[in-house]
Amino acid sequence: MALTAAASAREILTRLHDVMAKRLPAQSKLNSVVNTIGEVLHSEVCSIYLLREGVLELFATRGLAQEAVHVTKLAMGEGLVGTIAQHVETLNLDEAEMHPAFAYRPETGEEAYHSFAGVPIIRRERAVGVLAVQHAEPRRYADVEIEALQTVAMVLSELIANADLVDSTGGGTTRPQSTAATHAQGFKLVEGMAAGVAVFHQPRITIEHTVAEDIEAERHRVYAAFDKMREQIERMASQAEFGGGGEHDEVLATYKMFAYDEGWSRRINEAIDSGLTAEAAIERVQQRTRQRMREIDDPLLRDRMHDLEDLSNRLLRTVSGQLGTAASMGLRQDSILIARNLGPAELLEYDRRRLKGVVLEEGSLTAHVTIVARAMGVPVLGRVRDVRQLIAEGDMLLLDTSEESLLVRPSSAMQEAFEAKLALSQKRRAAFARLRSEAPITLDGHRVTVMVNAGLRDDIAAVDLTGADGIGLFRTEFQFLVSATLPQREAQRRLYKDVLEGVGEKSVTFRTVDIGGDKALPYLDHDEEGDEENPAMGWRALRLALERGGLMKAQARALIEAGAGRTLNIMFPMVSEPWEFDEARALFEAQRAWLAARGKKMPAEIRYGAMLEVPALAEVLDLLLPKVDFLSIGTNDLTQFLFAADRAHPKLALRYDWLSPSILRFLKRVTDQAHAAGVPVAVCGEMGGRPLEAMALIGLGIDRLSITPAAVGPIKAMVRSLDRASLMKVVEIQLADPRTSLRAALEAWAQEHSVELA
Ligand code: PEP
Ligand code: MG
Repeated sequence: MALTAAASAREILTRLHDVMAKRLPAQSKLNSVVNTIGEVLHSEVCSIYLLREGVLELFATRGLAQEAVHVTKLAMGEGLVGTIAQHVETLNLDEAEMHPAFAYRPETGEEAYHSFAGVPIIRRERAVGVLAVQHAEPRRYADVEIEALQTVAMVLSELIANADLVDSTGGGTTRPQSTAATHAQGFKLVEGMAAGVAVFHQPRITIEHTVAEDIEAERHRVYAAFDKMREQIERMASQAEFGGGGEHDEVLATYKMFAYDEGWSRRINEAIDSGLTAEAAIERVQQRTRQRMREIDDPLLRDRMHDLEDLSNRLLRTVSGQLGTAASMGLRQDSILIARNLGPAELLEYDRRRLKGVVLEEGSLTAHVTIVARAMGVPVLGRVRDVRQLIAEGDMLLLDTSEESLLVRPSSAMQEAFEAKLALSQKRRAAFARLRSEAPITLDGHRVTVMVNAGLRDDIAAVDLTGADGIGLFRTEFQFLVSATLPQREAQRRLYKDVLEGVGEKSVTFRTVDIGGDKALPYLDHDEEGDEENPAMGWRALRLALERGGLMKAQARALIEAGAGRTLNIMFPMVSEPWEFDEARALFEAQRAWLAARGKKMPAEIRYGAMLEVPALAEVLDLLLPKVDFLSIGTNDLTQFLFAADRAHPKLALRYDWLSPSILRFLKRVTDQAHAAGVPVAVCGEMGGRPLEAMALIGLGIDRLSITPAAVGPIKAMVRSLDRASLMKVVEIQLADPRTSLRAALEAWAQEHSVELA
C-alpha cells in the first residue's frame, strides 16, 4: 500500500498526540512511540537514541533486544547513529553494514536486520537524539517514509524537551558536550575582548507545540503570517532602509522572491496537512531545506540560504506573535549579541552592563552602530560569515577583536588562554589609565589637544576618567535616537546642562542634530519628498534641521539656556555651502535675542563652528573661514564622499585607506588654509582614534583631535613618544611622491623612531 507522507505522518501524529496527552512516565511514552512508529511504517525495528552526558544512549526500542536499552551507547560521530547526530543528517541505507561508519553492537541483536534509516531529533538546530528504523529485508526506505520519520522526529523533540530527557534543554544554555569548539574569523570594528553567551538580536523561536489540534486553524495562521510578512517586506522596500542601514537592495530582492515563492508556502501547508502546527511546519520545511543546501556546496546558494533562514525565522516569529528583539526580553547574563546588522538605536536598547560584545555578519568601521558601540566600550567583530550555522543561542563565546577572532563553545584550554590574555590587556589598559593626568605633549614640546566624542549622559564620566581636554563632539542626536518620541526642549536642556556641569571647566562642543542617513528616527517623517535612495546624501543633518525650523529652534533655546554663564561651542553638521552656516547661525542668534529679551541669563560667549564633511565646502573655504570660530573635520562622512564609498557598505569597508594620499592631501590643504586664516581645526572622525592615523594627522599639522574615549590612552602614549617636527618632514616628503597608501612608510617610520602604536 502506497502511503503518502502526509497520511502516514498524520496517522502517527494522531496516535502520538494521544500518547503525549496521557499522564505517563516519559519512559512509557517513549516505548509507546517506538511501537506506534514501527506499526504504522511496518518496520520491524524502531529505536530512539537520546543524547545524555554527551553520548547517544538507546532509550527505547521495538525489535532490538530490550536488555540493550540504557546499555547501548554511542559517542557523537560513532556508528550510524553517531554520524546522524554529528552531521545532523538523515541516513537511508539498504545494507547498513556496508556504511563505513557502521559499528556492530552485539547486545542489540541487530545482525538480523539489513536496511536502516535514521533521522536526527533536532532541538535549537542541534541533534539531541536519533530516531531509527530497521528492516530484515535489504531495501531503501521510500522518500515518503523518510519524511514521515522526520516529521515524527520534530514531535519527539517536543516530548523529549518537556520531559527534560536530554542534555541540551533547559533554556539553551547547556550544549551537548560533544558539540565541538569552533572558530570564526571577522573584521575588527571595535577593539576589545569579551566573554559571554550568544544572544541573537532576532531570537530564534523554540517551538513548544508541534502537533496540531486543528489543521484548518493552523493553515489559517500560516496564511495570515505570510500576509503580514509580505507587508513588512514591502514596507522595508519602500523605506529603502531597514535594520539600521547596510542592508541592500540585493537582500531585499531575495527576501521578496522567497516571500512570494509558492513552493515554499505549499511545502509548509503540506507539513501542516501531516498534522504539524504552523510553527513546527515552518521549521520542518526549513530543516529539509537546510539539509538539501548542505548537500549542494555552492557559495552563491549558501548566501541565498542565509536569506531564507532569516525570512523563515521572521515568519516563525510572526506566526507565534513573538516579534520583539532580544532587547525587549532583556539580557539575563553577560552576553554577546549576534545580528546581521543593527541600527544605532537598536544597539542602545540593550542593557550596557550585560552587553559585552557584538558580532555582525555585515558592519563597517564608520557606520553609526559601530561608533555607538565604540562609545559604549563594546567590542565589535564584523563581517563574520555563517553565524547561524556556527552558533546557537546560548553558546559560550569568546570574542577577541584584536585577533579578529570569535571562539564558539571554547574548550577549557582556550578559556584559560583567553583569560590570560584578558588579564594582560587589562594591565595595558591600566597603564594607559595612568596617563590620565599626563598631558599629550610631543617629545619636541608640542601640546596636542585630545578630546572625546560623546552623545549620552553616561559618556560624561569619560572626560574625567581619561583625562581628556573636554568633549570635542557631542552628538546631540543620540538623545533623539534613544527616545521613543521627539525629546522635549526641557529634556534637551537638562541633558546639555548635565554635560556642561559634568565636565567642569573643560570645553564641550555641541553638534546640532545630525538626523537622517543611518540615524533615521522612527517618529520623524523622513521621506516627505518621497523615498530616499541615498539617505547618507539625502535630507539629513543641517539640511533637515534648517527646513524643520521648529526642531532647530527648540534645540537652540535648550543649548543657550543650558550654557548660561559659560562659553557655548556650537557646531553644525554637513555644512555644504557657506550660506547654510549663515542660516543656522542666524537661527541661533535669533533665539539668543528672543531669550535675552525675556531676561534669561545668557552664555558668556557663543562660538560657532562648521563641520567639514562635504568636500564641496573645501572649495569655498575662503568664503567660510571668516565666518567661523572653528572648524571640525568629520572624516567619517568626508571619506565616504571623497571616495564615493558608502560608509556603511560592508564590501567597501576595507577598500580605501584613511592613509591614502587623496585623503591626506585634502586634509593638509584644508588645515593649512584654516590655520593661515587663524581658525582652529580639529578632526572628530573615527580616524583620529587610531594611533597610526592620528600620527599622520599630527604630521599634517592637525593638533586637535576628538576621539572615542577608549582611544585617549593609546593616543596620548603615541603623542608622548613622537617627535612632531621630524614626522612633519616625513609626511611632507611622502605626500609629494606617494604610493597608494602611506601606511607602510608611516608604520616603518614609527617603528624606527620608537613611536608607541598600541
Ligand atoms: C563624521 O562624519 O566624521 C562625524 C564625526 O560625524 P558622524 O560620524 O556622527 O556622522
Ligand atoms: Mg558626519
